[in-house]
Amino acid sequence: MTYTAPSAQTTAAGVSLLAPLSGRLVPIEKVPDPVFAEKMVGDGISIDPVSQSLLSPCDGEVVQLHPSCHAVTIKTAEGIEVLMHIGLDTVMLRGEGFDPKVKVGDRVRAGDPLIDFDADYVALHAKSLLTQIVISNSDQVAKFTPYSGNVTVGRDVILDLSLAGSDAVVTADSGVTVTSAPIIVPNPTGLHARPAAVLVNLAKKYKSNIRLKRGDKEVSARSVVGLMGLEVNHGDTVQLIADGSDADAAIAELSEALRSGLGEEGAKPLASPASVASLTAAAPPPRPRSDDPNLILGVAASPGVAVGYTYRLQHQDIRVTETAANPNQERRKLERAIEQAQAEIEALRAKVHGQADAGKAAIFAAHLELLEDPELTDTTTNLIDKGKSAAFAWKQAYTTQAEQLSQLKNELLAARANDLRDVGGRVLRILTGTSVEGVSYPDNCILLAEDLTPSDTATMERGKVLGFCTVGGGATSHVSILARAMDIPAIAGAEARITDLPDGTPVILDGSKGKLRLHPTLEEMERVRQKQARLKTRRQTELASAHLPAQTRDGHRIEVVANIANAEEAEKAVSLGGEGVGLLRSEFVFMERDSAPSEDEQTEIYSTIARILDGRPLIIRTLDVGGDKPLPYLPLPHEENPFLGVRGVRIGFDRPDILRTQLRAILRTSTHGNVKIMFPMIATLEDWRMAKTMLEEERQALGVAPIAAGIMVEVPSTAVSAEQFAKEVDFFSVGTNDLTQYTLAMDRGHPKLAPYVDGLNPAVLSLIGMAARAANANGKFCGICGGIGSDPQAIPILVGLGVTELSVSVPTIPSVKAQIREFSLNDCQRLAERALTLQSGAEVRDLMPMED
Ligand code: PEP
Ligand code: MG
Repeated sequence: MTYTAPSAQTTAAGVSLLAPLSGRLVPIEKVPDPVFAEKMVGDGISIDPVSQSLLSPCDGEVVQLHPSCHAVTIKTAEGIEVLMHIGLDTVMLRGEGFDPKVKVGDRVRAGDPLIDFDADYVALHAKSLLTQIVISNSDQVAKFTPYSGNVTVGRDVILDLSLAGSDAVVTADSGVTVTSAPIIVPNPTGLHARPAAVLVNLAKKYKSNIRLKRGDKEVSARSVVGLMGLEVNHGDTVQLIADGSDADAAIAELSEALRSGLGEEGAKPLASPASVASLTAAAPPPRPRSDDPNLILGVAASPGVAVGYTYRLQHQDIRVTETAANPNQERRKLERAIEQAQAEIEALRAKVHGQADAGKAAIFAAHLELLEDPELTDTTTNLIDKGKSAAFAWKQAYTTQAEQLSQLKNELLAARANDLRDVGGRVLRILTGTSVEGVSYPDNCILLAEDLTPSDTATMERGKVLGFCTVGGGATSHVSILARAMDIPAIAGAEARITDLPDGTPVILDGSKGKLRLHPTLEEMERVRQKQARLKTRRQTELASAHLPAQTRDGHRIEVVANIANAEEAEKAVSLGGEGVGLLRSEFVFMERDSAPSEDEQTEIYSTIARILDGRPLIIRTLDVGGDKPLPYLPLPHEENPFLGVRGVRIGFDRPDILRTQLRAILRTSTHGNVKIMFPMIATLEDWRMAKTMLEEERQALGVAPIAAGIMVEVPSTAVSAEQFAKEVDFFSVGTNDLTQYTLAMDRGHPKLAPYVDGLNPAVLSLIGMAARAANANGKFCGICGGIGSDPQAIPILVGLGVTELSVSVPTIPSVKAQIREFSLNDCQRLAERALTLQSGAEVRDLMPMED
């Protein structure tokens, strides 16, 4: 269809907008995004562009330019706000591909350039290039007349607007002013057009005048432009304020909507900040309860079993004087106390560094940061300025904030309350000159407490405290993390009645199951002690032979290597007898960052690990994210079935820039280490050949020697076609975690299916057998890097199936090696043959019963 453009004009009664881009006009209702199609942002029109420089459709002022530069608003002299949004979901590109030509406050004429964009890049990385031109204050327009067909930029008119008679100003009817609790914005890219529009639409339902406040800036919650101009980012704290007769209802609905991300994908609600007194607490998750008076249930916080006698640890309640005469003096006291606390925490950090591992010492680094938290220090100094003593002010500040944190639904944040109490208590003791009471722990004690702080845990007398059980905390609390690092069995989140138990009550604490058995018989206690002694002796024997090779009684050699995520684990693996790394999950190198690591950064990280391994093999798996494991800087479309979508190597094909950068880093590392490469989620021979071609291209460009290249066997098709793959690849490593989920069609993380997602299911074993047979027949090796590689009930069966490399979790290296030495290859083969004839994972497990 050919379009004949009417001439562009602005009259007293209306405004005509010129095409900001060349392309085909699309009715706004047809845009595949409900926010635009349902006119939540406003009425208007869309263009499927063929040009890549967005020009102004009218004269006016630039009143908003999104920080990601994908959206801009021009306000005309008539007060019409024309919002142009290039593409769909383009906020995710965070500015990549956009080059703004204006800034907020600039005056522009129709036809002036606003934003240049790289249409290829945007088309490739965003959902669509469709560009929306909408009037964000549509209530000021009486009639919209959109045009259709193809248009030429700066020449044709796309939309005629007849103006409403008067400004549609929202006036609040009489009523109260209601202010919401502070809300942390969970949207990954803040309040950009889409969530802002949803908020505006909700606000329009109410008569009240509703505003959104960030810092000291307030805007109308009915203005998309205003909201975007507020530049609210992910994690920012905002508040809603409403004046009017329905203010209460408005605040209730809008707060909830804001808190839950305004319907945006990936916006997980964040808890409100601790500093807010009006914070509304959500009910904590229900705790496990037992009907047996002699059994207390809790959360498994740190594995292991301990037998002993209870000892209750109580924290001192430090009393403080409320007022003080000289605020300046009190401020100085506070400063000094904080300095001393810093020194003490530094010392603890060093101690934990020596006792546990370096990573866990970071918990105390976080404590140091808490000491400098401005919310805490500002609240305290404000109180001091009002005549309170430093001790009173500090106590008030940290206890209030800790209390509020502890009420949060987000378990991870709630757990930080205990850290705050720990740090707060330390400063308070210093301020009040209270000495830390030296706790003298009785022998063989199982510590019971309302809660323990990381400091309590780090300073515990290890020879006397055999385990502990707390009412507070959870598996993710820092105390639990420390307990695991220090190898102390522990239960957290236990029933509160533990604090009523008299000291000296005999108990058996099972930290692996989260169970505290009260009043066991002496025989039961003895049985557990004997088992512990046996386990200890066994562990010592295993450790003593950890550095010997793992071979069966008849001399069949199995390579035992490690699954690692970083250099620290590589060191640990080597110290425990690991013969190399069978799986470096390189995604950890890409996580918790704002952008992908550069080639040099990756080379440095991989080279450090290669150096630690000192010639031992290092198998680097290329980036295995996507679907359910997104990276913040990698915009991936929402997927209905993420496990069946663009994940693993498919991401590399979709984003060859990322994969090729990684390939180069791995190849560069290979020049000074025993490096092999492995591709995840290979499902077809085409996948493998494509990956291999990319590797070869990069290798030739770098001019380095070829390296061994293998694949993960984790998709059933690959196992079934193993014979064909084995002719081309250098090795297989079976990812039994995924292979099991895809074979049984059971989500590996599904809580209800967990007992059935068993890699020892005969169907999975049969696929492993196919892979191992094909590899061996073609002179290649087949390893296992999924979880069952460390499972004692699986190990002999895997060896019997023909697997010759086990890549296992680091702590299990010595026991896996020891277990291999207990069998002959013949025993293993018989077990494997038998396993393949059985009917369920449970039956297979019965072949290798575990000691109770
Ligand atoms: C597996 O799937 O078994 C595997 C080792 O990979 P990941 O667990 O990282 O998906
Ligand atoms: Mg996997």
